[in-house]
Amino acid sequence: MKTLDYQRDTMIREHLMSRGIRDRAVLEAMRDVPREEFIDGRMVENAYGDHPLPIAEGQTISQPYIVAYMTEALELKSSDRVLEIGTGSGYAAAVLSRIATTVYSVERLGGLAQGARERFDRLGYSNIVVHEGDGTLGWPEHAPYNAIVVTAGAPKVPQPLLDQLAIGGRLVIPVGRSYDVQMLVRVRRVTEGDYRSEELCGVRFVPLIGAAGW
Ligand code: SAM
Repeated sequence: MKTLDYQRDTMIREHLMSRGIRDRAVLEAMRDVPREEFIDGRMVENAYGDHPLPIAEGQTISQPYIVAYMTEALELKSSDRVLEIGTGSGYAAAVLSRIATTVYSVERLGGLAQGARERFDRLGYSNIVVHEGDGTLGWPEHAPYNAIVVTAGAPKVPQPLLDQLAIGGRLVIPVGRSYDVQMLVRVRRVTEGDYRSEELCGVRFVPLIGAAGW
């Protein structure tokens, strides 16, 4: 087996750069975070494969390219405060935390939330805060956020997330009427009441389950 460092470099070159990921901060963050720490040890040989992997509780850790694509689409600045909905393994939150100042991450499944907290402690990612709860309601205590990313598929954009987006902020979310196929959408809050939405690409995510989700 090739070393994990070699596999990570290959992933950056062949799965990210060759498909158009250009943001230096995103590429550096993807190089910095050890994906093998966020998956079951029995799958370590697949850590840098070009595909999602199963994690506990029937959920998934997203394909590295999708993590990079969504992170780039958020147009992050180092001073940004980010809300992530769907902590899962914690991998995407770790990537976001290498670029933004603070990451607030909400996960509905307690076992996953706790597992991610333990990983962040072990790996020293001290600017990520995890909350167990229904992320379709956002996390109002820390709002507004400069960027919000949802890593599960929603039937429509949850209103609480729109409300918690700062003016000038970006929300990236998979939206679709079917349970497992969505369009990745970016919404910008231009003024208090003016939101602009654009479609980015087709994606497949596990469902966003909650009061303002499925
Ligand atoms: N970002 C994750 C990672 O890097 O491993 C992958 C997330 S996985 C594709 C989607 C996650 O969204 C699952 O862990 C699922 O439990 C969670 N989820 C679904 N509905 C949710 C909700 N209403 N609030 C918070 N998390 C939710």
